[in-house]
Amino acid sequence: MTTINKAAFIAALISIAAFSTAYPTFAAPIMLKGDINRDDMVSVSDMVVFRSFLLGRYGLNETQTIAADINGDGAVDSTDLSDLQDIILESRNKLPIGTWIGDCAGSKRYFSFGSGTVSIVDPNIGKSQFFTVENEGDLMIFRSGKAEMSAFVTWDSELSFVLRWCNGCTETFRYFCDSKTEITDLLTGRWVTSQGRTFEISGLSGKLTDKSGNVSRFEYAPNGENITFHIGSTDNSISGKKNVNDSMHFTMTWSDSTSEKFTRQEIEVRDGITYVNGILIANKTYALPADYNPGKILSEPQSAFDTMKADAAKDGIYLSIVSGFRSYTYQGQLYSSYVNRDGKAAADTYSARAGHSEHQTGLAMDINNAGSSFNNTKEAKWLAANCVKYGFIIRYPLGKEDITGYQYESWHVRYLGRELAKEVADSGLTLEEFLCIDSKYKT
Ligand SMILES: [Zn+2]
Repeated sequence: MTTINKAAFIAALISIAAFSTAYPTFAAPIMLKGDINRDDMVSVSDMVVFRSFLLGRYGLNETQTIAADINGDGAVDSTDLSDLQDIILESRNKLPIGTWIGDCAGSKRYFSFGSGTVSIVDPNIGKSQFFTVENEGDLMIFRSGKAEMSAFVTWDSELSFVLRWCNGCTETFRYFCDSKTEITDLLTGRWVTSQGRTFEISGLSGKLTDKSGNVSRFEYAPNGENITFHIGSTDNSISGKKNVNDSMHFTMTWSDSTSEKFTRQEIEVRDGITYVNGILIANKTYALPADYNPGKILSEPQSAFDTMKADAAKDGIYLSIVSGFRSYTYQGQLYSSYVNRDGKAAADTYSARAGHSEHQTGLAMDINNAGSSFNNTKEAKWLAANCVKYGFIIRYPLGKEDITGYQYESWHVRYLGRELAKEVADSGLTLEEFLCIDSKYKT
């Protein structure tokens, strides 16, 4: 009748039984598959009953038979016992990871599980609490200092579980990212603010770096458009209203009526090349590797220039590229020659060090005359007025030297594509300001 290795099975029973004695009894009306002894949990005691049944020592009533037929094939046999064992073993080792929304008596709470820890944010209380969390079978135990609370967990699916708290509350959890309506609340990512702060948010917690570079941890409690950040200790919190501009920008109006603009900033380094929000960046902060060498202006900016040149000609304006792609090696030689002539400090204001030149990207070009005598020419005026339509921006504008790291260059354009170039131009910001990055040599 049974194909189970008896010795191994009994050994497993004993090891599970050792801690199953710690389970308090708990009553709730939910019918669980595998809950053969009807104590409202699936545990090793169900296996004891099941085994007695299989050995002919115990009879099952109708409800118990339904609970015991785990694979639903209409028969209660050793395959169901094997499934029951899997359920118990699986739930023993399973703690949720990530952020989950709990719903206890119609009130939402956010649980951010880490490895063995959880921070619970209750928007109604406006306060977050840290706990260590561990599981013993289907019992989940939360501890914070001397405080301890526990609940029985039942997994409905990978994306949903139920906690039955010892105070009688049944709380259903669903995975935070699973719901389209909730995802707008999820601020996961790196945000740089108009006050020079950086919020690196993961789930409902994160790291805040202030203007002076001081780092503190925080939790946040979203409640619709109202957000409370609990920084460092839970006593230090700031609250405000979130106004979303688009997926990349939102503004917080703090309770003291000041406002702070948040800009999403995703910095990714692939093959040594830095992309900020998907935009390839070469400036004084971010260098290109020596082996990044497209060899010429990339085809898209080249054809955009060709179109721009043809249209300019119709207005009686003649445009040509005097410097396009420059390799890492060539830029290094160029920079050295300027340092020899003018000194390092002066050279750094107008020439890039190897790896730091936008010309190495294949996306930048100097038009007509790379010198201040180009400023105020009719060609320079036409270029400034029209380049955005073709996907270019004047990369180093007048008055922004401290931000871009370069003197005003009326002749140097950078290709961003039409849509993005327009967005940057309309913002009135330099690319550094638009992306909240800086441009400064580290040494
Ligand atoms: Zn240039």
